[in-house]
Amino acid sequence: MSVFSSTDFDNHEQIVFFADKKTGLQAIVAIHSTVLGPAVGGCRMWDYANDEEALTDVLRLSKGMSYKNALADLGLGGGKSVIIGDSRKDKTPELMRAFGRAIDRLGGYYITAEDVGINVEDIEAAGEETKFVAGLNKGVAASGDPSPFTAHGVFSGLRAAVKHRLGTTDLKGLRVNVQGLGHVGYNLCRELHDVGAVLTVTDINTENVDRVVSEFGATAVAPDDIIGVEGEVFAPCAMGGILNDENILNLRVPVIAGAANNQLERDFHGEELRRLGILYAPDYVINAGGIINVANEIHGQTVTDEIGMKKVEELYDTLLEIFKAAEKAGKPTSQVADEIAQKRIEAARAEKS
Ligand code: NAD
Repeated sequence: MSVFSSTDFDNHEQIVFFADKKTGLQAIVAIHSTVLGPAVGGCRMWDYANDEEALTDVLRLSKGMSYKNALADLGLGGGKSVIIGDSRKDKTPELMRAFGRAIDRLGGYYITAEDVGINVEDIEAAGEETKFVAGLNKGVAASGDPSPFTAHGVFSGLRAAVKHRLGTTDLKGLRVNVQGLGHVGYNLCRELHDVGAVLTVTDINTENVDRVVSEFGATAVAPDDIIGVEGEVFAPCAMGGILNDENILNLRVPVIAGAANNQLERDFHGEELRRLGILYAPDYVINAGGIINVANEIHGQTVTDEIGMKKVEELYDTLLEIFKAAEKAGKPTSQVADEIAQKRIEAARAEKS
C-alpha cells in the first residue's frame, strides 16, 4: 500500500494507523491541515474492501474537510477518520471507546464527530475516553446530531442552484432525485416535501426507502437507476465518486446539489459537468451545515437550534457567489471553490511563517 506516492496524498500533515486487538478496532486518522486550527472532521465506519480503499477514502475526505472548514470560515483545519468494519455488525461501545483512546493520543490536533455509520451515541462512547469529540447531545455547548443542519444547508444550497440555473426559488413541483436516505437524505426529503417538491428516491437499505415513500409520497427506483431519472435536480446523499466517466453521460438533470462528500470521482469531472451545462454545487460547500453547527460546540458557544439553522442558511449566498464567479471566469464551480479555500489556507500559512 503506497502512501506518499498515492495520487490522493496531498502533503497531509499526519496519517496515523490505530489497532486494538481486544475490540477489533482498525482505524486510520488523516490530518490534512492544521494551518487554520485543529483538524476537525467526522469519523466514518465502512466495510471497506481492503486497507487501500480505506486509506484512499480518508486521504480524500480529510482534504475535503480542510477546504470545507476554510470556505465556511470556521477557524478550523481539516481531518477525518475511518474505522474499518460493518457498522451494523462490528460496532460496539467498547470499540468506540478504544477509538476514543486513539483520538486522545493525538492530543487535540484532531477532533472527531459523526459521519456515515457513526451516530451521536457512538461519539458519546468515544467521548468517555477523550474530550476531543463534538456533535454531542450533552455537555458544554452540545450541538447534537449535525445531520439535520447538513440537510438544511443542502436544502438552502439546492435553492440557490435552482435560482441560478433555472431562475426560480419556488421548489413546488420541482423534480428532485435523491440517492441515499440516511441521516441527511431523509431530512432533506422532509424539507423538500414540505415545499411541494416531487421526489424520486433510492437506497440500498429498503427500510429507508419504505419510510420516505410512505411519509413523503416519494417514488422509489432501483439504486442503479437513479442517475438516469429525468428531473431538475439530482441530490447525491450516499457515498462518494458518484460523478464519474460513466454516470455523467447518463444524467438527465440540469442541477446537482446533494450532501455526499467527494461526489466528483476526479477533479476533471467538474469541467465535464460544466461542458454539459450541468450546474454542480461543490459538495464540501453545500454540505457544510453540520460542521458549521458543530463548530459552535468546539468553540464553546451555546446556540439554539433556531439560530444554528439560520446561520446554515448563509450557504445560499455563499453558493450563489461561487456560481456567479464560475460563470464569469468560465471555470467549473468546483475549481472556483477550491481556489477560494486554497487561498485562505495559504494566506494563513504565510502569516504564520
Ligand atoms: P448515512 O449512513 O446515515 O446514510 C447514507 C445512506 O446511503 C444509507 O441509508 C445507505 O444505505 C445509503 N447508500 C449507501 N450506498 C448507496 C448506494 N450505492 N445507493 C443508494 N444508497 C446508498 O450517512 P449520512 O450521515 O446521511 O451522510 C450521507 C452523505 O453525506 C455521506 O457522503 C456523508 O459523508 C455526507 N455528509 C454527511 C454529513 C452529516 O452531517 N451527516 C455532513 C457532511 C457530509
